[in-house]
Amino acid sequence: MLRFLVLPSLVAVSAIGQSMPPEPERQLARSIYKELVEIKSGYTTGSTTQVAEAMAARLRAAGFPEADIFIGGAVPTKANLVVRYHGSGRRKPILLLAHTDVVEAKREDWSMDPFQFIERDGYFYGRGTGDDKAQAAVWIANLIRYKREGFRPDRDIIVALTADEEGGGPYNGVEWLIKNKRSLIDAEFCLNEGGWGEIAGGKKISNDIQVSEKYVINFRWEVRNKGGHSSMPVADNAIYHLSAALDRLSKFAFPLKTNEVTRTYFEAMSKIDNGPAKADLAAVARGSAEAMQRVARMSPAWNATLRTTCVATQIEGGHAKNALPQLAAATVNCRVLPEDSAEYVQTTLQQVTGDDHVILTILGDVSKGPASPMRPDVLKAAGRLTDTMWPGVPAVPIMVMGATDGLYLRAIGIPTYGVQGFFMDRDDIRFHGRDERLGVTAFFEGQTFLYELVKALSSAGA
Ligand SMILES: [Zn+2]
Repeated sequence: MLRFLVLPSLVAVSAIGQSMPPEPERQLARSIYKELVEIKSGYTTGSTTQVAEAMAARLRAAGFPEADIFIGGAVPTKANLVVRYHGSGRRKPILLLAHTDVVEAKREDWSMDPFQFIERDGYFYGRGTGDDKAQAAVWIANLIRYKREGFRPDRDIIVALTADEEGGGPYNGVEWLIKNKRSLIDAEFCLNEGGWGEIAGGKKISNDIQVSEKYVINFRWEVRNKGGHSSMPVADNAIYHLSAALDRLSKFAFPLKTNEVTRTYFEAMSKIDNGPAKADLAAVARGSAEAMQRVARMSPAWNATLRTTCVATQIEGGHAKNALPQLAAATVNCRVLPEDSAEYVQTTLQQVTGDDHVILTILGDVSKGPASPMRPDVLKAAGRLTDTMWPGVPAVPIMVMGATDGLYLRAIGIPTYGVQGFFMDRDDIRFHGRDERLGVTAFFEGQTFLYELVKALSSAGA
């Protein structure tokens, strides 16, 4: 009995000892983090150039040569920073990515100034504290620490802090670097945002590693008609055609399926979940069609993990109260599994309409990146470190429904993994919202996690 009482506390002490960086490293990371949050780099109104310049100044002061620091971007206000820390060159470089723009924040919407870095009640507050300036601060702080400690990696470590991830657009830093400075960021693989540690009910349950993401297709469903006077209606009506087609869409669902990533995810979930879903989650991982049906019904997130989804999001039509409509149109937003093609989705939806009066067109470009392979080196290192720092917590590969800059990198053959090790309450994620924050301990533990992870992935024999 004594053994069981004593042992866990010993483990806890040593885990805490390992999980916090030394005091000077914490101070460095915190001051970089503060500087980043207090630079207003709003996606629509701000500039990322000041961020790039501030971080370059830190790197120069730490002894990084000018030749290894690049600043540039699509326009003068949307600069990116790329810095290279040289290794022995035995293996291809590793790229560490973070975006430096943030979603806008208005003082009147917040309970404090969003562009003032405030530590209060165990949290760091400010726009970008979660998305994505914590990771940017940690990449820079850790790079400076590697240099000071004389760490000699067996591959170059490249840090890229990039512009305009939020909403993409013409100044997106990753797209710009791929097009204009490809050699600066060429790497065997990349670590990025998109994964974080999940806390549920006050307990750490998983350290999520994003391996793939769904891609987006927006369709316009359009019906045109010659119209006429509303006093003499006919059956052939644009609004009726469209609404009948949308009604069929509401009753339609794409087939349920799993892939390598989601099978691993459901397998891990079956071990974490001790509720009524446990057995079904394990059965989904084994490919049971019946279990998939039940699990998809249990939660919209699990449903979206198991199938491509398409939903009507906007509607327009008609031109006068007393005229038969000449136009009825809807936008249908699809989140597509990486293994489903755009052609497959379009053909399927055309069949779903059941009506050739409804014409489907794709709005804008479709950017589809392949899933990153489940690289055993990345997943093993992340799993081992997670278990060391937070005993019993698994690292879980996930596919996300949104999109990150990883999309562009995957498309050119650089597998990208969303991994941070910052733990947060999954029911209180404040990215893009008011009073955005990250736990103080969570930040510093993430600093250690990423320090060790990058070290492991750039040391021979890892
Ligand atoms: Zn982000």
